[in-house]
Amino acid sequence: MKVYLNGKYMNEENCRISPFDRGFLFGDGVYEVLKYNGKNFIEFDSHIKRLKTGLNFLEINFTGTENLTNICRKLITLNNLTEKKALLYIQVTRGISNPRTHFFSKENIIPTIFISVSLLPSNKKELKKGVSVELEKDFRWSRCNVKTISLLPNVLARQKASEKNIAEAVWTKNGFITEGTHTNFFGVNKGIVQTAPLTNNILPGITRQAIIRLCKINKLPLKENYIKENEIKDFDEFFLTSTTMDVTPIIRINNLIVNKGKPGAVTRKIQKYYFDMINSV
Ligand code: PMP
Repeated sequence: MKVYLNGKYMNEENCRISPFDRGFLFGDGVYEVLKYNGKNFIEFDSHIKRLKTGLNFLEINFTGTENLTNICRKLITLNNLTEKKALLYIQVTRGISNPRTHFFSKENIIPTIFISVSLLPSNKKELKKGVSVELEKDFRWSRCNVKTISLLPNVLARQKASEKNIAEAVWTKNGFITEGTHTNFFGVNKGIVQTAPLTNNILPGITRQAIIRLCKINKLPLKENYIKENEIKDFDEFFLTSTTMDVTPIIRINNLIVNKGKPGAVTRKIQKYYFDMINSV
């Protein structure tokens, strides 16, 4: 595949990054994952806005966000994906610190930017049948709203789940459900859709935002309130949202079978609204 690194398009085998890059040394950077539907990028501006928020928070002085649309389009073309569904990863790190120091110069570091693209993997089965998740105590830092590349807790929890054939680990904090390791978490209780509010405890998911918008447009009642761990037995449905998992029904949480192990009717409706939206852009 062709990738983009620091102003150049190249074959991925030729891509070289310094081991003194702070992304490698410290996980000092941010990233975005976005989807291409065979015609257009989905919610491109929202992804770039979130990237900018993360760059500001990390005080990474990256000035190239305006060019990202053109670069992403060119990568799609160079990889012959114009009519295919694809995923793009945009990764910006603070750049090189040699000698290695925790502190950094705000003036003298040039950020590293790397963009890769791949065919969108199929998740048809999960969308149709739903998935199991397990709850895990949230041991991440207190800035989960920043989409940093430092993903170690998410990596470890997801690995533990995947070794048990479980699709996602969902974080709980002081008895409240926050989000998944790479997804936002929603429940449906007596027709009311519910998801955690936007705080430092969750990533402001672009899919989450789209679902909230679609619920409003389609007059589905929605509350941005935490779902408590001890309330899940009272809920009728649950689902996960993300760029890669779309709107994936949850059919089991730990040992609790949800909706008799079948995706629920409200989840199905929301899936339809979501796919109608992403197929129409
Ligand atoms: N929460 C976390 C922790 C994530 O990593 C992701 C995936 N980027 C999400 C939620 C979902 O975000 P989005 O809908 O923007 O993909």
